[in-house]
Amino acid sequence: MLDTLRQITEELSRATSLEDALAIVVHRVKEYLAVDVCSVYLIDASGSSCILMATDGLDPKAVGRIQFGQREGLVGLVLESGQPLSITNAQQHPHFRYFPEYGEEAYHAFLGVPIIHYRQVLGVLAVRQTNDRTFTGAEEAFLLTIAAELAGLAHAATVSASGLSDQMTTHAATVLTGIKAAPGAGIGVAVIPSPAAELESMPDRSADDPEAEEAVFRQAVVAVQLELRASGERMAARVPTEAHAMFQVYAALLDDEEMFADTIKRIRAGNWAPGALRATIAEHARVFEKMDDPYLRARAEDIRGLGRRVLLRLQSRNAPPRQYPKRCVLVGEEISVARIADVPIEQLAGIVCTRGSPFSHAAILARTLRIPAVMDIGSVAFAQLDDRELLVDGYQGRVFVEPSPAVREEFQRLIKDEGELAKELEALRDLPAETPDGARVLLQANAGLLSDLVPALDAGAEGIGLYRTEFSFMVRDAFPNEDDQYQVYADVLAAFAPRPVTMRSLDVGGDKALPYFPVAEDNALLGWRGVRLTLDNPGIFLTQLRAMLRANAKHGNLQLLLPMISACQEVDDARELMERAYSELVQGGHAARQPPVGAMIEVPSAIYQIADLAKRVDFFSIGTNDLTQYLLAVDRNNARVAGRYDNLHPAVLRAVDHAVREARECGKTLSVCGEMAGEPACAVLLMAMGVDALSMASPSLPRVKRALRTFTRRQAQDLLAEALRAEDAAEVHRLLNDAFEQAALSSLITPRQSRA
Ligand code: PEP
Ligand code: MG
Repeated sequence: MLDTLRQITEELSRATSLEDALAIVVHRVKEYLAVDVCSVYLIDASGSSCILMATDGLDPKAVGRIQFGQREGLVGLVLESGQPLSITNAQQHPHFRYFPEYGEEAYHAFLGVPIIHYRQVLGVLAVRQTNDRTFTGAEEAFLLTIAAELAGLAHAATVSASGLSDQMTTHAATVLTGIKAAPGAGIGVAVIPSPAAELESMPDRSADDPEAEEAVFRQAVVAVQLELRASGERMAARVPTEAHAMFQVYAALLDDEEMFADTIKRIRAGNWAPGALRATIAEHARVFEKMDDPYLRARAEDIRGLGRRVLLRLQSRNAPPRQYPKRCVLVGEEISVARIADVPIEQLAGIVCTRGSPFSHAAILARTLRIPAVMDIGSVAFAQLDDRELLVDGYQGRVFVEPSPAVREEFQRLIKDEGELAKELEALRDLPAETPDGARVLLQANAGLLSDLVPALDAGAEGIGLYRTEFSFMVRDAFPNEDDQYQVYADVLAAFAPRPVTMRSLDVGGDKALPYFPVAEDNALLGWRGVRLTLDNPGIFLTQLRAMLRANAKHGNLQLLLPMISACQEVDDARELMERAYSELVQGGHAARQPPVGAMIEVPSAIYQIADLAKRVDFFSIGTNDLTQYLLAVDRNNARVAGRYDNLHPAVLRAVDHAVREARECGKTLSVCGEMAGEPACAVLLMAMGVDALSMASPSLPRVKRALRTFTRRQAQDLLAEALRAEDAAEVHRLLNDAFEQAALSSLITPRQSRA
């Protein structure tokens, strides 16, 4: 049985559509269990009945026609109970029902199992036999295993009505769920930009006219060079320095005489251009792959990517450059920064990746460009999406395929409401975040790219509460040197002076990988990340510290924040390195200034060491993203457990409350810089706890300010007391939703919260 299961799983992994997958299942199950019929039923838009989607044994015309409501027929019983049902002689069962009009015989034996995804019954997998038969436990287990495989695939393409308004559910569209990576909603036609170009499988073939072949190849290289240069320039206009740097890497590889001279040699020897290119790229990539240095090893993929681009040009020799639909949604396994830059910004309605995380380059850029993006929607849907209309819901991490008019309307209304609310909130720009009874909270912005600074200034941020320095490391092809870093930090500090800028030392590892410093770990989130990695690589840390201290010389508005602190010794070691960087700089005649140093509270152990840490640091900042992840043991980037990741879980609230109290007792200032700070309802609770500052993505600033200027500290403290007593997150969500509704502030709560 195990072999059969393995084979079926393998076949399913190659399926290119849900139809394909279902056909494989019904055929293989019927064959293996030697039954007369095997069928799959999936729930419809209403969620209360299921429709025959695939069968081996019944008339194919029955597909889409046979339907069972809950408790209707044996299939309906399985649907309702969510339990397997095995019957030797079904005809004696009161729920027996069959369809002779579709070639079904009055069968005897029945075995049906539910298809369940994350506790939701999505359908039924059933087999039937015309004679009496008692299915064994092993056969039932086999069917359950196949149903579990099918559940993930079905989920990606099944009509999902969860979380939609009544109006929408009646006309629900196919919904794919993933991880929200950039907020907003956009509608456009799906474009899968990855070329059909399979460089690795290009055969050798003799060219009729080597000279003409060489000319075509040279033209293709020039065209790709121009394309890259144009993309780089377009990017530079929008996203300064960091993203632009990536194009220089590619262009430099294209200038590599040797690589292309080798291709031309092969063409002159008689091979056609695609074959010659394949051989050259493979040879060069292999050389890099063998290198010990991880940075150089990673260059192999750059070379292959470049090869694919040139091949694409060769394949579309005379084809005009790609035309994108007026409103287009880029869909791919992972979308590169270069791909995004290819599309004129006014035509880009959204980005959807079948893999990836909110920390991928595509996600970072999408947020910067304010393009809605959803990651990790799963791969089965991928091939089906090309050229279809998609609605990208970046608020909740969903993608609607060919949305119905009702869904479109709902989202158009949402987009309009958002626009109106934004205008209304603009009036608050220069007002302080102060409650009606005089409690004041500093509102600051989170930033990571230089291009985040203007929106932060526009939104009236009172400083940068978290500057994620790793972002400018992530969009490069190598570690930036001290001068490169100095330039970026000096720009950021100058843009905000005299307001404070809290810069975090490099926080990579875990879910934030540097392409040129790969760290492979079984359990990366508990591994070599944040300050652990920089302390173990003092060269990297010292370079960054030197750049920061130099940049701080002019305005003195820098605050240094240490990520992933879990022990006092880490702060001592980091401080020692800072002292060293400072004295080296002074001895070398550089202007430099030491900043106040703070620790992030994002590892649970830090919460219980605040008094000890307070002897070593000047301030604290709570990173609720990681703190929630580690307290609840829920991977913040895993779509499977995304429903369990909740900042309003009472355990998270109690931990944060404890940290705030401890920090106050020690007389240290404390801010919150995780996503939680940017949710208006959470912000009200954090204000009630007594935090000094909240730092968030700039678009959240006006909403949070509005909420803080509405609730008095007293009201907020009452809400907090109740929230801290709650038994689960749902209770806290209800409490806050009610409070916001009563204050006529429901529109400030994001769609996710309003439905939670
Ligand atoms: C956090 O963990 O809350 C945080 C702000 O850091 P990051 O999201 O960058 O890990
Ligand atoms: Mg963190």
